[in-house]
Amino acid sequence: MTRDADCLFCKIAGGQIPADVVRETEHTLAFRDISPQAPTHVLVVPREHHRDVASLAAAAPDTLAELVRTAAAVAAGEGIEAYRLVFNTGEQAGQSVFHVHAHVLGGRAMTWPPG
Ligand code: AMP
Repeated sequence: MTRDADCLFCKIAGGQIPADVVRETEHTLAFRDISPQAPTHVLVVPREHHRDVASLAAAAPDTLAELVRTAAAVAAGEGIEAYRLVFNTGEQAGQSVFHVHAHVLGGRAMTWPPG
């Protein structure tokens, strides 16, 4: 298992920092965002450290597929039919934590284009 000692989401995955966990699978973990931008705002991360979604796709495509299934299960568990799945990739796109995470956003109407 590859973990980065300085990574916030590695620490959450490793149980060193608490989080409001809503779902767990063998390779992924889903927990509520600390600063929710929608009635449902859950982050889904791989347990292993990968900096962004492209790195995860290259290194562990099965885990990426599992992560997307976890996101869908989270939405279903929240009773949400429509949801937005976002992977901010790179600082300019809004990525602030460099451990890949899908934002599952739902429970309100979404606008397009995003800001
Ligand atoms: P991003 O800006 O796409 O990298 O998303 C990082 C997300 O992590 C933001 O939406 C933050 O609100 C969220 N976040 C930061 N620290 C925590 C934490 N300790 N627990 C849960 N969510 C967090």
